[in-house]
Amino acid sequence: MIYQRHIPGDELFAAQLEALMQNGRVATLGAQLVGMLATIALFWQYVPLAVTLLWAAGFFILLLLRSLQMSNALVDRSYQTRPRRVFWQLLLGTALTGAVWAVAYIYAASRVPVTMQYMFLLVIVMITAFSLGYSVMVREYFVTYVFASLWPIAWWSLVHYWDQSNNLLIGLLLLAFCALLISVSERVYNSFRNMISLNWERETMAQELGDLTTSLRDRNRQLRDARRQLTDLANVDELTGLGNRRLINKVLQDEINRARRGSAFLAIILLDVDYFKDYNDNYGHPAGDGVLKRLADVMQRATSRAGEMVGRYGGEEFILILPGASTQDAVRTAERLKELVAVEGIPHEKSPLGGRITVSQGVVSVTPDAELTAADIIKRADNALYQAKHDGRDMICIG
Ligand code: GH3
Ligand code: MG
Ligand code: MG
Repeated sequence: MIYQRHIPGDELFAAQLEALMQNGRVATLGAQLVGMLATIALFWQYVPLAVTLLWAAGFFILLLLRSLQMSNALVDRSYQTRPRRVFWQLLLGTALTGAVWAVAYIYAASRVPVTMQYMFLLVIVMITAFSLGYSVMVREYFVTYVFASLWPIAWWSLVHYWDQSNNLLIGLLLLAFCALLISVSERVYNSFRNMISLNWERETMAQELGDLTTSLRDRNRQLRDARRQLTDLANVDELTGLGNRRLINKVLQDEINRARRGSAFLAIILLDVDYFKDYNDNYGHPAGDGVLKRLADVMQRATSRAGEMVGRYGGEEFILILPGASTQDAVRTAERLKELVAVEGIPHEKSPLGGRITVSQGVVSVTPDAELTAADIIKRADNALYQAKHDGRDMICIG
């Protein structure tokens, strides 16, 4: 996956518009309304009430329309889908608002006392300075406002420098103030844009990290599954589906440790098919495989208790591990097994033992001490098995 490291231009622009509208909606309306009330308070004695009210009503409607436009754009997300259009609407709104102040100032300049006029100018300047804080996110927006409000007042003052003694000074000061505001706005705007970019990059990286974590987790799960499958394969005898020698050794060692801790019995039965070489020779190797499978099923049926385990020890030899079984218990299991094999009645015409498949079993039960090893137990069971073979087969011997 390839991630973009820098915010794309159109996303940055949309983010700027969004931030401007979110803050501007309340701040613009609030500041302009306060300014409007201050103006009414300043002028009501000097300007005909009808004019003041008409101005205030018109201004109020303009502010309302602008607020509505911002709310709509925020809700329908047109600042993302059609950012240019929203941009121009915002510019128009701010230009009209600025112009309202300029026109009002020029109108009032010849009608109210000079002190009122200057106070009014102070209000306009303050609103402009205040709006720098929230509207600079879109630089053009702020600059447009300055050019629509303070700029015309400055030029009007310069042009009418003869009418009032301070007009020249006011005009020059306002021009300087406009230049200062615009240069400050440039700096604030740049840091704001960096902030948006950084924020975007941080979010992108967080997402990237999240994706990576998820894919790592998936990989881990796959690895774990694969490992489990491999372990299963490594521990299972292919022909019979029983545990293989590897698993037997592990289970036996675990059971010895457990029995040692709990001073409990642990029994095993080693089992070998009688005259199996003759069976293979007579019926063929594949048929012999079939017998081993059937015997594996029989042995699984004979061991039903939890913790008991059957494994293929090698060739046609099997092992049963019986945790907790005394010699008596283990012999009982061996007898049941012998019986089940007899009931199975697999024909073996070359066997001198009744023409049926039979098995010999060596049984041993221990309570493991510190010295006893898995090899010791197997050896004892193997000896017992040898004894069973020696004594005529189809027998159970205790080691
Ligand atoms: P006994 O154990 O009664 O002394 O006689 P036996 O004929 O069974 O003697 P032995 O245990 O030595 O013979 C083992 C035979 O088991 C030899 C081999 O052909 C056969 N065998 C071992 N593994 C397999 C197997 O996976 N499939 C088949 N079909 N035969 C196997
Ligand atoms: Mg054998
Ligand atoms: Mg055999």
